[in-house]
Amino acid sequence: MITTAFDYTKATTIDEAITALSEGDGKILAGGHSLIPAMKLRLSRPSKLVDIGGIAALKGIKEEDGEIVIGAAATHADIMHDDLIHHHLSLFAEGAALIGDVQVRNYGTIGGSLAHADPAADWPALVLAAEANIEVHGSNGRRIIKATDFFTGLFATALGDNEIITAVRIPIPANGARSTYQKFAQPASRFALAGCAVMRFADGKTNIAFTGVGENAFRDVEAEKVLSGKPLNNESITAAVDAALQGVMVLSDHYASEDYRRHLAKVYLRKALNTVSGL
Ligand code: FAD
Repeated sequence: MITTAFDYTKATTIDEAITALSEGDGKILAGGHSLIPAMKLRLSRPSKLVDIGGIAALKGIKEEDGEIVIGAAATHADIMHDDLIHHHLSLFAEGAALIGDVQVRNYGTIGGSLAHADPAADWPALVLAAEANIEVHGSNGRRIIKATDFFTGLFATALGDNEIITAVRIPIPANGARSTYQKFAQPASRFALAGCAVMRFADGKTNIAFTGVGENAFRDVEAEKVLSGKPLNNESITAAVDAALQGVMVLSDHYASEDYRRHLAKVYLRKALNTVSGL
């Protein structure tokens, strides 16, 4: 399969990338592991690719003002192997390790995954559970979008025209937080047929986020409400599993019917809650 013809620009600064993007029908090129296959299938036909792989400001992972700040061009492997992440945000190391295969993890980026917003991608559930903020830059400057406001539909996000994700900022959870990501992976691609990220904070607040289940990743507020202020035990976990997915339009495709996917999602929620509770 061959893409349509396109121009190519390698940006060295964020401003250069935004300017190049605003000239014509351009698209950002990060790891290329979602965009290039879509171009080969002619599902995407940009007239220009703006490569952000040479922008130093988009790389690296640091601690700043009580947050972990992950550059948008950090690869899944960078995150999986990072000491700060292991120390403060093991959920992200655990999740990154489950993405695709070695090549996908070495090329694919967190910014590319969030912008692409594949309904079966892993990062959306992880950033939702961790209450991350998505930092974006565009011709009108910088803004922060809460993860809960970012995913707006199937492959759709709150990113504006010519806006670029520059970083993902995660408040460092207080000591005592426990978390996990559990997914039933499609055996070839490893995308989630159902994935569930849980973050249980030291004060008992519990965030539950699903991916692979609906048109976009989401927090399950009904299941969260059931656990609010309660200890995690068999009874409260069963009540949360029963309450989960109310009113959710569950996806159905040739990998998993709606009923099977709903069942899987509840099984993986229970696995996740059992894991954080130590049951
Ligand atoms: P690209 O493909 O370069 O870009 C994707 C889209 O995002 C494009 O529209 C691009 O313009 C836009 N974009 C990129 N960066 C930015 C930015 N900073 N700001 C704004 N827009 C941007 N993913 C999973 O979650 N789990 C899996 O198990 C999994 N398995 C995979 C298996 C295979 C075989 C393959 C090929 C992919 C798999 N993926 C999986 C997807 C992979 O993680 C992709 O790398 C990721 O979704 C996209 O990241 P990228 O850096 O490659 O982005």
